[in-house]
Amino acid sequence: MHAAADGGLARIRVPGGRLTASQLRGLADAAAVHGTGVIELTSRANVQVRGLGEGDGFAARMAEAGLLPSSTHERIRNVLASPLTGCDAEGILDVGPLVSELDRRLCARPGLAGLPGRFLFALDDGRGDVAWLGPDAGMLPTGPEEAALVLAGADSGLRVPVTSAVTALLAAAEAFLAELAARGVHAWRIGELPGGAEPVAARVRATLETGGAGPVRLRPPAERVRTPPPAVAGGPVGAVRQPGGRVALGVAVPLGRLTPAQAELLAGLASADGVRLTPWRGVVLPGLARVDLPRAVARLTEAGLVTDPDSPWIGVTACTGRPGCAKSLADVQADAARATVPAGDGAAGTPGTVAPRAADRPRTGTLPVHWAGCDRRCGRPRGRVADVVATGDGYRVNLNGRSLNCTDIEETTAAVTAARGGS
Ligand code: SF4
Repeated sequence: MHAAADGGLARIRVPGGRLTASQLRGLADAAAVHGTGVIELTSRANVQVRGLGEGDGFAARMAEAGLLPSSTHERIRNVLASPLTGCDAEGILDVGPLVSELDRRLCARPGLAGLPGRFLFALDDGRGDVAWLGPDAGMLPTGPEEAALVLAGADSGLRVPVTSAVTALLAAAEAFLAELAARGVHAWRIGELPGGAEPVAARVRATLETGGAGPVRLRPPAERVRTPPPAVAGGPVGAVRQPGGRVALGVAVPLGRLTPAQAELLAGLASADGVRLTPWRGVVLPGLARVDLPRAVARLTEAGLVTDPDSPWIGVTACTGRPGCAKSLADVQADAARATVPAGDGAAGTPGTVAPRAADRPRTGTLPVHWAGCDRRCGRPRGRVADVVATGDGYRVNLNGRSLNCTDIEETTAAVTAARGGS
């Protein structure tokens, strides 16, 4: 729990973004009873709840729901996984079982409790969606039997058997701590180490070769996987066919804020496969019966959630802003909502409201846009993004080094639309 301007703030780690329906229900209920009720989705596929009072009622509810399995390792259970893994043919393997294995073995190593809370793991199933989100230690299968070890967001050149991938990730975390101790320095991330990821890779290789982890190879720089541009904004949105008459439905959550009613609806629609939170602050519902899809889409849309990949909400992010952050110069979330779905366009302009049908609205453009209450721009996605930063007198819209000062929301909306390539 941290102290924020609007009360206690709790962050709950959700390895791989995986929740059962009953865990999501328990989270929504506890957030409504103890906090503001809103569940904020983070870019690490974790969740945050704000406005919590004194006492440990909320933590006790999370423990009851099985969401606090380790009091010593809670802060370091930051694990991304491909949200559609096991659902379609895009991935090379289903990394779901590896998420559980990594979490279990991570929590079983007392020495790793000292890992900085910013350290990030990623289990990519081969489609390349989470390997390039800047993990400290990640795996990217290059075939059914072998995986590339990603360190500090880039291919380290090490190739390990898929069966030893979790061992390699844990070895990377331990190698990072060993490097910090050996050099007597402090760093939050592998990329901040003097010498970068190279010394960590050398330690991992030595550990795996002496530990019987199977054949470990080092690819020369020319043969390493090049870091591609960031994935398309918004993550999976819409239906993806699964075998056996099933579908996985990607749902975008406006500004990553789930109301209690929306969380309850998602829990009610979820199959036995549960829900998967995504690093793009959305949700995937795997295993839905194909015949139930139209009704599910209608109910989600009515509740203000987004299943249309062309929605103006796709690619819109915002920092906490007022009232949650004392540094903020504006209520950026409310302003971002007003600019994305302006009043008079058939919606009230607040997160969770329904955008007009694609055919009925002007084009808003597709470039990601990030709204921030100050120049720190917390939560800004990687890659090419239009920045909208509060100035105290309005907003400054930045793109490619050019900026425009806007004094009211209409002017800001027009500048954002132009920056995103809309009309
Ligand atoms: S960008 Fe500024 S206003 Fe927004 S959350 Fe960060 S510190 Fe607060």
